[in-house]
Amino acid sequence: MAYEITQDYIRTGNSRPGQRINTVRFIVSHDTGNPGSTAYGNRNYFDRQQPSASAHTFIDDKYILEIIPLTEIAYHVRSNVTADNRLYGANANSAAIGVELCHGGKINFDDAYDRYVWYHAYLCERFNLNPKSDIVAHATLDPSRRTDPVGILRTHGISWSMFIDDVAEAFQNFNGTQTPSQPSKPPQQTAPAPNRVTKGTTVKLPIGEGSSGAFVRDIQQQLIKAGYRLPRYGADGVFGEETENAVMRFQRDHNLAVDGLVGQVTLSKLQQVNQQRISAPDFPLPSGILRRGDQGESVRQLQRALKQINYNPGTVDGIYGPRTEDAVRRFQSMYAALKDDGIYGPNTRKYIRMELDD
Ligand SMILES: [Zn+2]
Repeated sequence: MAYEITQDYIRTGNSRPGQRINTVRFIVSHDTGNPGSTAYGNRNYFDRQQPSASAHTFIDDKYILEIIPLTEIAYHVRSNVTADNRLYGANANSAAIGVELCHGGKINFDDAYDRYVWYHAYLCERFNLNPKSDIVAHATLDPSRRTDPVGILRTHGISWSMFIDDVAEAFQNFNGTQTPSQPSKPPQQTAPAPNRVTKGTTVKLPIGEGSSGAFVRDIQQQLIKAGYRLPRYGADGVFGEETENAVMRFQRDHNLAVDGLVGQVTLSKLQQVNQQRISAPDFPLPSGILRRGDQGESVRQLQRALKQINYNPGTVDGIYGPRTEDAVRRFQSMYAALKDDGIYGPNTRKYIRMELDD
């Protein structure tokens, strides 16, 4: 599986104080605790809202997204807990990388988990850490308040030690050597700082007609997101003629060599185009509460947004009728944090925004 690390940093502020990390001594594993929220949804939230808590990296089924440079600190563990000092002789916020697993909603857990495991192994290699001793759950550091990510992993049948074993195995595959068995660390190496990491890649680029699998599905989803519809087969994971034609149209529109193959250049362009779309406020969302029977421009805005994220509200007519109510309810049912009441309010707004931005 090819994993790419995307670096799309939030601006400095409360969430990104900008102080340097001296030495990375360990990794703190988290989950977002916010079912259905994606890596980009989180990124955009931290970028805009700037709460004074964050983490370096958010991982879902599509992205390994670094939102804070690994050379800087992030506040991902309450600073008055003491377990980090006891275990590692340092405060997590000043000596650890915080990694968040996104889960729930439409996020494919297995795909997200594989990335999460791989990225932990990558960090171990990059910072000379031992997967067996230098990864700690947030729950272990702050047991009175947190269960992450142990609770979520467990609901998917994965114990903490299984997770650590998975990381250790990925780590071995990473550099072809044994997992270091002694907890004492060699001196910190200068970290290689590639912009994009494709180490561990088993998918060979370019890919084209005849390829299939999760990676193809990823590309198809990105094409659709970029506005290149695949009306007949959708994102089915099979690279056929329809996908090839969409790739060629995309290449033509972006002045790339038109060969219908997805190589590094086309892939990067696709990701870039989709990331640019994030910042385009094409779909304003009304504030306040809307429910069945309401009418007007704000209802129309809501309907356009629902349509955009494929929750068809019927005709965009500015009338909050049964179909719009049903679309809202279907949307709400995707998120554990939302009540499925068919009423649009601030919480539903927040999640629609995240999906629009995804
Ligand atoms: Zn946490």
